[in-house]
Amino acid sequence: MAPVLILLGPPGAGKGTQARMLEEDFGLIQLSTGDLLRAAVAAGTPAGLAAKAVMAAGGLVSDDIVLAILKDRMAQADVAKGIILDGFPRTAGQAAALDTLLAQSGQKITAAISLEVDDDAMIERVAGRYTCTCGEGYHDTFKRPTHAGTCDKCGGTTFKRRPDDNAETVRDRLAAYHAQTAPLIAYYDDKGVLERINAMGPIAEIRESLAQIVAGITA
Ligand code: AMP
Repeated sequence: MAPVLILLGPPGAGKGTQARMLEEDFGLIQLSTGDLLRAAVAAGTPAGLAAKAVMAAGGLVSDDIVLAILKDRMAQADVAKGIILDGFPRTAGQAAALDTLLAQSGQKITAAISLEVDDDAMIERVAGRYTCTCGEGYHDTFKRPTHAGTCDKCGGTTFKRRPDDNAETVRDRLAAYHAQTAPLIAYYDDKGVLERINAMGPIAEIRESLAQIVAGITA
């Protein structure tokens, strides 16, 4: 059965960065509801229009919208390779809906991996981050391109910052995480699929810890 991994953790914990690395290391597919929602906003779809203001304020988009967008993505063929859910589920309702969706196709969650970090450090992590248009992530302090202004991966020179990656919105996003998402750690612990890793160290170290866990559970 193809693995279904969930990355849990507050904004800035490194879910997106590590999910992309797991794609490279294990050939899995990253499914980020944040990326799917940003694409919907950019395309001006009805879901995107409904989500835009909530996202800008750092709140959570309604379960209905998020689930519809995720189901569409999960209907595509590439997910058969196995998936890493990044930023989903974020509420108890989404977690229950995911269980149902997976059960319909005879699948279940392989592991939910909680990236454990200190809130205080997350504001600096999130406020300093930016990405190349190819998707490669950078940070003002922690991960600068080798040659300033040029992407190490694709050589591109166009970078962007997310509008919700500012200190004020990050506080609201952290509050939403603690109120609605952190309880899912206990939910997955009760199911016996929870793994915890310390995600305060360098990106390469966290990649290594994650790779060990994933190699163990997908072997
Ligand atoms: P992210 O890229 O995961 O940090 O998500 C960016 C924003 O998209 C969040 O602050 C929420 O407004 C929205 N979002 C992403 N995923 C979800 C989700 N699973 N449930 C509700 N809102 C979400």
